[in-house]
Amino acid sequence: MTSFERLKKILKELPGIGDKSSERLIFFLISKGKDFSKELSESILELSENMKVCSICGSIDETDPCSICSSGKRDESILMVLEKPRDLFIFERTKRFNGLYHILGGLISPLDGITPEKLSFEKLLQRVENGKIKEIIIALSPSTEGETTTIYLTKLLKDKVERITTIARGIPFGTDFEYIDDFTLQCSVEKRQNID
Ligand SMILES: [Zn+2]
Repeated sequence: MTSFERLKKILKELPGIGDKSSERLIFFLISKGKDFSKELSESILELSENMKVCSICGSIDETDPCSICSSGKRDESILMVLEKPRDLFIFERTKRFNGLYHILGGLISPLDGITPEKLSFEKLLQRVENGKIKEIIIALSPSTEGETTTIYLTKLLKDKVERITTIARGIPFGTDFEYIDDFTLQCSVEKRQNID
C-alpha cells in the first residue's frame, strides 16, 4: 500500500468522508507542506493521549473529574441527562445552562442489544441518591430510542427528585442535536416541560 492509499484508507473511517473528500483532503495536505502535516498529526496524538472519561458524569475532558463536575460554580441542584459526550459540547455552546450533566453512553435499543444495564443508569441513581439534585432535565434526541429511554428514566427517577422535565418539543423527530441551531436548543431548555 502506498502512503497515499494508507492515508486515504484511514481518512475514510472519519464520519462524512468518502472517496472524493479523502482525496481532496490529501491534496490539500500536500499543498500545505510538511510543517502543517506534522502539527496536525502531533495534535491528534496529543488529543488521544490527554482525553479522559469523567468518572462522575461520563463526559470527556483532559481532567477527571471533568472541568464541569469540578467547577464549583455550577448549579448542583439541576442535572441534564444526555446520550453522548458530543451532546454536552453542543449544549455548553449555547451558554445558557449552568447545571451539571450526566452522559448515558447511548439510548435503550433492545433490537441493537443495548439494554439498560449497558448504559450509565446505575451511576445516575447514585448521583441522585448522594447529591443535592432537585431537577432532572431529560434531553435525549427525539427518536423511538429516545422516547423509550425517557420513559425508562422517568420510572427510575420518579420518587427520587422534585421535578423531572424534558426539553420542549419542536425539534423534528429523528434529528440529531448536532443539526439544531443554538437558539432552538436554548429555547428547548428554557421552555422545558414537566413529565407527569
Ligand atoms: Zn464530569
